[in-house]
Amino acid sequence: MAEQRMGFFTDTTVCIGCKACEVACKEWNDVPDDGFVFRATSYDNTGSLGASTWRHVAFVEQDGRWLMMSDVCKHCTHAACLDVCPTGALFRTEFDTVVVQPDVCNGCGYCVPACPYGVIDRREDDGRAWKCTLCYDRLRGGMEPACAKACPTKSIQFGPLDELRERARERVERLHAEGMTDARLYGESPDNGVGGTGAFFLLMDEPETYGLPPDPVVTTRDLPAMWRWAGGAALALALAAGVAVCFAGRKP
Ligand code: SF4
Ligand code: SF4
Repeated sequence: MAEQRMGFFTDTTVCIGCKACEVACKEWNDVPDDGFVFRATSYDNTGSLGASTWRHVAFVEQDGRWLMMSDVCKHCTHAACLDVCPTGALFRTEFDTVVVQPDVCNGCGYCVPACPYGVIDRREDDGRAWKCTLCYDRLRGGMEPACAKACPTKSIQFGPLDELRERARERVERLHAEGMTDARLYGESPDNGVGGTGAFFLLMDEPETYGLPPDPVVTTRDLPAMWRWAGGAALALALAAGVAVCFAGRKP
């Protein structure tokens, strides 16, 4: 494990919706196109995160303002996708990020419904699961992820998570002091339902406005209790079967 956890701080207040992050991600990671869909209702032509959209720039049009946000895998502290993967294709890296290895993924798809953010997705043509790797290969080479490198406004910032959290808190304080009291952080708290995320956001409205779940919870939270319960039930059944065998052997 790395001495310092690395992550993303995405400050949506300075995003200009240029999509350089989406393009840089596709270029570096060789992610195929996702259909070039013209939705006719929005400038958003990728729609959502998916197997072939690892960064997604949301465009929210409100009265008098645009809200833009570059979304990504949250690299959760408690990552349900990783918990349920039966092949070990999903693993936690030395940077404390969550990565899926395409050559180990068998396409079972268990990870897809397990993700509380709807991030990880199977590709239709090969059936395997794909998502943001936080540019694992670049990190190993001492470089920052491609999206952060390409972002012209520094809306996407990469670095040690502790430093990013500190910087984000200062930014929120400054915005509040300037009268933008709607500014709030999303995902940075280790007390949230996934133990905090390695990719967190500064938002200017409720999370739902950007299509983010307001109170996500790791979907495997109750698994240990369920296994304990199942183990107890199996033991009770075995005991009952043993007692039945004993009585069956007795003469009336
Ligand atoms: S956001 Fe979803 S895919 Fe990303 S680490 Fe968390 S559970 Fe896994
Ligand atoms: S590159 Fe930066 S400014 Fe451009 S859309 Fe992405 S996050 Fe926004």
